[in-house]
Amino acid sequence: MMQWMPLAQLKQKILAAGGFVNAHAHFDRAYSVTPADLPGANATVERALQEKWQLVDGWKRNTSEDDYFAHITSALRAQHEFGVRTALTFIDCDPVAGTRALDAAMRAKDYAAEQLQMRLLLACQTLKGVCNSEARRFFEIALEKVDVIGGLPGADKGREAEHLDVLLSAAKSTGKRAHVHVDQNNDPSERETEQLARAVIRHGVEGQVTAVHGISIACQPKNYRHELYALCRDAGLSFVACPGAWLDARRNENLTPTHNAVTPIDEMIPAGLCVALGSDNISDVYKPFADGDMLTELRMLLESTHFYDMQELIRIATDNGRRVLGLA
Ligand SMILES: [Zn+2]
Repeated sequence: MMQWMPLAQLKQKILAAGGFVNAHAHFDRAYSVTPADLPGANATVERALQEKWQLVDGWKRNTSEDDYFAHITSALRAQHEFGVRTALTFIDCDPVAGTRALDAAMRAKDYAAEQLQMRLLLACQTLKGVCNSEARRFFEIALEKVDVIGGLPGADKGREAEHLDVLLSAAKSTGKRAHVHVDQNNDPSERETEQLARAVIRHGVEGQVTAVHGISIACQPKNYRHELYALCRDAGLSFVACPGAWLDARRNENLTPTHNAVTPIDEMIPAGLCVALGSDNISDVYKPFADGDMLTELRMLLESTHFYDMQELIRIATDNGRRVLGLA
């Protein structure tokens, strides 16, 4: 008797549909973790996310363009092995990394096309924000070179609205899509997805913007969630889920609806929202054990949301990725 293995079939169908689209990554810092980062309570990997945004400065400062190229292309070869054929990676372009990572990534785009028959798209990672004038200068430099405008409102703490205004004005004037990290903390006090959706409508860039993560949405009461999905539909706001990135969210004593720390696709897909899949960090201080295997990411997503619709899962891993990258 033939035995049916749904996971194997899922992978086979995704490969037949043109391979995985990794819609969110940070290949420039892939494989930057070291044994010294790991052990002990004060180890780098144990620090809070916002602290890590600054902790990577030492590594970035000492990484040459050629080193960056080596990290990005190592990640690309591993991604190819995992069946990825299209990817969007964020690239640090700020006063610490200078333009070294971006220059390396531009070369890696050609490498991907010529050596691996892969399509690589780039977005700017604004780890130093876009409000401070020195950081803004690097954002402007990146803007001309990247395919997608990347944003991280949390990097301009207290000035998140201004950060969004800078990004979305740039999206409006260049016609480029914007991908923005929001609601990452699995914390009900966060309302960044709502803030982003409202800003999208205010700037008239509906359908041009993607929210990366949206973890804290699942902390909100049901009424709020469903009103938020309607607002996101009005804004044409799409999402990228990076399940492995946040399943490790720390225990805290906030009381919220019971949920897993993951983008709630079990509600978003039926609500008519487009959700794509990303690996996020690979083997760096954020995610030392992550290897970028997209089938593992998809499995974590389907398990943590109890979402078994094979057709939709295939779309999440392929077509939806192309849509949020502006390729379909
Ligand atoms: Zn990210």
